[in-house]
Amino acid sequence: MQLELENFTKCFDGTPVIENLNLTVGDGEMLALLGPSGCGKSTTLFAIAGIYRADGGRILFGDRDMSDLPSQRRNVGVVFQNYALYPHMTVAENIAFPLTVGKKRPPAAEVDRKVREIAELIHIEELLARRPAQLSGGQQQRVALARAIVRRPDVLLFDEPLANLDAKLRLEMRSEIRRIQLETGITAILVTHDQVEAMSMCDRVAIMDKGKILQTASPTQMYRAPVNKFVAGFLGNPP
Ligand code: ADP
Ligand code: MG
Repeated sequence: MQLELENFTKCFDGTPVIENLNLTVGDGEMLALLGPSGCGKSTTLFAIAGIYRADGGRILFGDRDMSDLPSQRRNVGVVFQNYALYPHMTVAENIAFPLTVGKKRPPAAEVDRKVREIAELIHIEELLARRPAQLSGGQQQRVALARAIVRRPDVLLFDEPLANLDAKLRLEMRSEIRRIQLETGITAILVTHDQVEAMSMCDRVAIMDKGKILQTASPTQMYRAPVNKFVAGFLGNPP
C-alpha cells in the first residue's frame, strides 16, 4: 500500500523538530530514511506508526488519512534495534501476539497456521518452542521481524534494525530483511545512519538532515548526482 506524508510537522516542547516534511513511498517499495543522529528519523517513524501524534500535516495509507488514529488502529509492523520481545513468552507466542489482541480474535488453529507460515518464511521453524533468552541476537531479530509481519501490515517500519548485531550477522540480516520484504511485497521504510545499509537494501533513499529531506533518489542516481554538498559529503565515496 502506498504511504504518504503530507506537510508532516512534529514539535517537542513547542519547537518544531520536523516541519512540513513530504514523502511518498510507493506500494511495495522499500525506502531508506538516511541521515545523521538526531536529524528526526525515529520521530518520523514513530509518527507513521501512531506512537507519536503529528502536530501538523497528514499521514495517508493508500487514500486513508491515518493522522487521528491511534497505533492499534493502524496496521503497521515495527522492528526496533532492541528486539523488544516478550521474555516470558515462547517464540511462537511472541509471533502470535499481534493476532490475539483486538476484537477479532482468529480461531487457535488459524493463529497456529499463520505462525507456522511466517516461521517458515523467516527460517525459524525450529525455534518456535524456545524463549527469547535462549536465542542469539540474530535469531531474536528474526523473531521480531516475524512478529512485525504476521498481520500482513500495510506498512513495515525498521528503526536501525541491525545496529546491535556484529558485522557478520549484519551482512546476513541485510539480505534477509530485503528478501523477506521483496517476497511479501510489503511497503517498508528503513531508518538508518548507515549509508551502505541504506544503499544496499532499498529501492530509494531519502537523505535527511535537521528535520528536512534534502534528496530522494535511487542509490545510483544519488551517487551520480547529489543535490548539494551535504549529501555529497554525507555519502562520501561509493562503497
Ligand atoms: P534520529 O532518530 O534521526 O537520531 P530523533 O527523531 O530521535 O532523531 O530526534 C530528532 C530530534 O528530536 C532530536 O533533536 C532529539 O533530541 C529530539 N527528540 C526526540 N524525541 C524527543 C522527545 N521525546 N522529547 C524531546 N525531544 C525529542
Ligand atoms: Mg533514531
